[in-house]
Amino acid sequence: MPIEKNQVVLFHYSVRDEQGEIVESSHGGEPNAYLHGHGGIIRGLEEALEGRDEGDSFSVTVSPDKAYGPRREGAIQRVPIKHLMGAKRWKAGMVAQVQTDQGRRHVVVAKVGHKFADVDTNHPMAGKTLTFDIEVIQVRPADASEIAHGHVHGPGGTHH
Ligand code: ZN
Repeated sequence: MPIEKNQVVLFHYSVRDEQGEIVESSHGGEPNAYLHGHGGIIRGLEEALEGRDEGDSFSVTVSPDKAYGPRREGAIQRVPIKHLMGAKRWKAGMVAQVQTDQGRRHVVVAKVGHKFADVDTNHPMAGKTLTFDIEVIQVRPADASEIAHGHVHGPGGTHH
């Protein structure tokens, strides 16, 4: 069935940056699952998936305004190193997760001191034009609880 609002979509993807470098991929793991029409994935990708069907493969190039937004200046923050999640030892250029009021966010480590690190709170892919290579694995109607919650339950989704 073609993808439309309130359908659960499972897809594999790789993301390439402007240099053609693969920056992220779901291959080798579980496909990504989202509820279509609820803003659960970046806007440019959700628009490109509209009307696609199971088995479709396609590529789409998404500008920053429909992906992770522009890079903001002055987004460097000093945080205690013990608040960085994802590794034991840190150096500049590594991606960490930090807990914020808006939930967990990815940050790029800019500088590491003794107890504190400077992190860039821009999303690592902010300001980048990204090309997604997409393979639609499965499309199914969402059930009532998924529509009420605005996200997918079960494999690839939220468990609660
Ligand atoms: Zn839920």
